[in-house]
Amino acid sequence: MNQVSPQATEYSMPQSANVDDKEISKFNEIAFRWWDPESEFKPLHDINPLRLDYINKHSPLNNKNVIDVGCGGGLLSEGMSKLGAKVTGIDMGERPIQVAKLHLHESKLDINYQQTTAENFAEQHAGQFEVVSCMEMLEHVPDPGSVIRACSKLVKPGGKLFFSTINRNPKSYLYAILGAEYMLQMLPKGTHDYKKMIKPSELARWMRSAEVDLVDISGMAYNPVSKHYSLNKDITVNYLCYAEKSL
Ligand code: SAH
Repeated sequence: MNQVSPQATEYSMPQSANVDDKEISKFNEIAFRWWDPESEFKPLHDINPLRLDYINKHSPLNNKNVIDVGCGGGLLSEGMSKLGAKVTGIDMGERPIQVAKLHLHESKLDINYQQTTAENFAEQHAGQFEVVSCMEMLEHVPDPGSVIRACSKLVKPGGKLFFSTINRNPKSYLYAILGAEYMLQMLPKGTHDYKKMIKPSELARWMRSAEVDLVDISGMAYNPVSKHYSLNKDITVNYLCYAEKSL
């Protein structure tokens, strides 16, 4: 009999899911190295303290209900959990979620990880979170505006939303693709697709249509000489921002 089990039906994604399977495979293939600070995930390890500070400064995390959208292997989720947040992490990659769950045995933290999309999760959990983070993920989805709308649905009125991504201009092509992937080989070739990188004006437009107010945009610059990242006003390459959902 060619019957689909009720469970398979329940968990299958709708046809219109905002997921690029090639992007998910890229992260699945390398997920086992997620927690190795010298691996291709080194840039995420390096920026983690900066973005944690940024979030905690604008929305102190202790006791907050937080959702980390596109959480990968859990670097930011664990950081937020250590600062006292009650964290849910969602990602469409099966392996990153497995890695994130396994790492909890080591860290002894309590985080609710689920393999799903922001859009699907928002159907069941609208208005349940005080903070939404969605870092380095929007440039990997077919329709970033749809993720931002889902994040807006997940957050309570008065809650805060944090996003980070990569700008799209000749300098960001030079730094984020030619520099990081080809010259310095910090990231595997093909990690980022120039066409999918996002201008702050585009992010701001999606936020407006998701009914959240953009409050701040800050740059996250990499200095190839000191090999350090710092937060500053230069948003031409990597940047992060936060928005508020009005009461
Ligand atoms: N936010 C994490 C991981 C960034 S890597 C961090 O900054 O540390 C991007 C992650 O987005 C990957 O784990 C990938 O599996 C996930 N992703 C890509 N498309 C997605 C989608 N449509 N829904 C949920 N997760 C997605």
